[in-house]
Amino acid sequence: MTLFDDDSYEFHEMDSKDRCFRCGYSSGSFFVLRQVKSMKMVHLCEECLLTGISDYYLDNTRPWSPKGKSRK
Ligand SMILES: [Zn+2]
Repeated sequence: MTLFDDDSYEFHEMDSKDRCFRCGYSSGSFFVLRQVKSMKMVHLCEECLLTGISDYYLDNTRPWSPKGKSRK
């Protein structure tokens, strides 16, 4: 059993890496957060990061390069 199971870091089916999941804003940089409701990962813009923090939380356990190093 691995702690860094890819299934634990599934992105929301409505998420796109090119826009904000919450407001649809489509430029700038995005932050990957976990949506509390679905427990899936989504991209949020900076404003939604600040205003929607109760619905989303930062998940620092996410492996940023899943295909990079293998963890055991
Ligand atoms: Zn937004």
